[in-house]
Amino acid sequence: MKTRTLLFDADGTLWNFDASAVISIRTVFKRRGYIYSDDVFSRYERINKGLWERYERGEMSRDRVLTERFDLLFAELGINADGAAFEDEFREELEQNPVWMEGAQELLTTLRPDFQMYIVTNGVASTQHKRIALTGLDRYVDDIFISEEIGAVKPQEAFFDHVFAHIRPCPKNDILLIGDSLTADILGANRSGIRSCWFNPARLPLDGEACPDFEIHALSELPDIIKEERSWN
Ligand SMILES: [Mg+2]
Repeated sequence: MKTRTLLFDADGTLWNFDASAVISIRTVFKRRGYIYSDDVFSRYERINKGLWERYERGEMSRDRVLTERFDLLFAELGINADGAAFEDEFREELEQNPVWMEGAQELLTTLRPDFQMYIVTNGVASTQHKRIALTGLDRYVDDIFISEEIGAVKPQEAFFDHVFAHIRPCPKNDILLIGDSLTADILGANRSGIRSCWFNPARLPLDGEACPDFEIHALSELPDIIKEERSWN
């Protein structure tokens, strides 16, 4: 097997979504004159994680997660404010404050001469285009695939079928997907017959049905994995 084509997830892989969220919440807190401390973000993270777990169990809708997370945070903090209005301001800031993952630009620069490289991202097209422009991500890759524009999301096979139809033709064995989500990226790669590398900086346990071929904890580990794999030939 020879990897010639790399598909990168964006959020949580090349972009540090948590760092963007910290900046964005802090910015809106300051603008509104609320007191911000690290404790605010810890509380938000705990509440947000709990709500998304309920979403994944089918107990609440995505919209309800987004309208409730700041209501619950403000209830804990004793702040009298409308969570949904805060959510809108927060999301605007998220668009304005994309942050590169540590080592991401160096990685893309190192790999660029030897590989076809693409972005495969689940997300709102307008948001992703803004963040692509702000980070210059498009300069490093051959094309970008956004779920909203495709009409299918990772891990659906329809998403990957669209990608395969639009990248430079190559055997599926030559494709490696790199992503942080077991349920979107790795499962999608499994289902569509390509290999995958799980980017797992938090060193989470492997659970569920997804089965990555490789696992890395820092982006700087990726070139060695690819090199090793190429030398097997
Ligand atoms: Mg991701």
